[in-house]
Amino acid sequence: MPETHCTRILIIGAGPAGYTAAIYAARASLQPMLVAGLEPGGQLTITTDVENYPGFAEVIQGPWLMEQMAAQAENVGTRVVPDLIVEVDFSARPFRCVGDSGDTYVADAVILATGAQARWLGLESEERLQGRGVSACATCDGFFYRGKRVAVVGGGNTAVEEALYLTHHADHVTLVHRRDALRAEKILQARLLVNPKISVVWDSVVEEIVGGGTPEVVEGVRLRDVKSETSSVLPVDGVFIAIGHTPNTAVFAGHVDMDADGYVVTKPGSTRTSVPGVFAAGDVQDKVFRQAVTAAGTGCMAALEAEKFLAEEAAALAGANVAAVESREDAPGGNDSGQGVGSGGRGQAAESSGRGQGPGSSAPGQASLAAD
Ligand code: FAD
Ligand code: NAP
Repeated sequence: MPETHCTRILIIGAGPAGYTAAIYAARASLQPMLVAGLEPGGQLTITTDVENYPGFAEVIQGPWLMEQMAAQAENVGTRVVPDLIVEVDFSARPFRCVGDSGDTYVADAVILATGAQARWLGLESEERLQGRGVSACATCDGFFYRGKRVAVVGGGNTAVEEALYLTHHADHVTLVHRRDALRAEKILQARLLVNPKISVVWDSVVEEIVGGGTPEVVEGVRLRDVKSETSSVLPVDGVFIAIGHTPNTAVFAGHVDMDADGYVVTKPGSTRTSVPGVFAAGDVQDKVFRQAVTAAGTGCMAALEAEKFLAEEAAALAGANVAAVESREDAPGGNDSGQGVGSGGRGQAAESSGRGQGPGSSAPGQASLAAD
């Protein structure tokens, strides 16, 4: 039987951004509800070593780190729900989100933290060797290739930046691109092409990632030249797939502003989206940094901004109610149309707090829905 859950803050996503937002919201006594989606823990659950998340002197494991974040969020009062949001309505307050389970989540504020996914080539060998030499994140894994040879696949800004970054660690970097021209910005291309540690293999696609040894690790990539139709094996110790990311935002399309690549647009220096009361944190709104620590940082920002939004709204509502009572008392013979005054006061209150509401919005008084 589908249920309706009411909460002050709904957090969609259980990665570093979502859990951090939950920790801050829970500690602000907002009793957040967090919907975890299909990948509780997020992208770090599909990696092994993490050594750039501050606070740990030794290398830690991605899945372990995410278990700790989940436990911390729950310990301070977050309710984590195993559901997938498949529908949202941000046109009126309170916001409504529907889960794959059929349940409805009604919230005064929502934090979008659904992350993004690296695009993969789709090869069986690529999947088999992930974490054993196949990676989609040079910043995360480049360190492990000190003095080694690596390949980067792709021709956009990300691929070129990853290739340049990897020269700080690897002995040699080969950029493999399927065409004879890069998509990356000219300035990045110039830096790439003059770098003595980088060579480019043009017009080539990866047919297979070649593994060997026990346990099996990457030993090379089988490339096919699409012009000559010849194949060859390039010996490398690691392969970085940099063919783009896809933000998990399909469900929000048409409900918040997004850029041409489908990332949620947030106001500069803020996690506010185009809809007052809806915030976005982590990779869902970040196509530049895409790190666990930046996701966690923006998760913190989103919770603090959501808390402030709700507090300002409550204060404005209280002020409007006092003004309404006073004006009734001052009016000759009193005022018996309390309902009309109250609703007008709410509209003014929302404006005076600088946060207009969407058309057809319900009263912020409904913000006091108790968490179930
Ligand atoms: P994600 O971690 O992507 O989490 C998104 C969450 O949203 C998931 O829980 C998912 O289930 C949920 N979700 C999605 N859609 C829905 C929906 N419709 N309804 C409900 N929930 C939904 N960064 C580092 O700093 N250091 C590293 O060493 C490192 N290594 C990495 C290794 C790999 C292989 C990868 C892929 C990434 C790595 N990163 C690393 C990057 C880091 O994992 C991400 O930047 C970070 O996880 C982003 O966090 P996030 O919370 O924004 O989103
Ligand atoms: P992108 O611009 O979409 O480039 C993806 C690259 O991968 C393209 O060169 C594409 O080849 C190639 N590719 C795609 N699918 C492939 C496949 N199946 N096999 C082989 N190659 C494949 O992605 P991105 O580089 O991640 O950038 C995404 C967005 O973020 C862009 O808007 C970019 O400008 C921005 N970004 C900006 C910065 C920065 O400003 N410093 C840094 C990173 C990213 P084709 O060229 O043949 O299509």
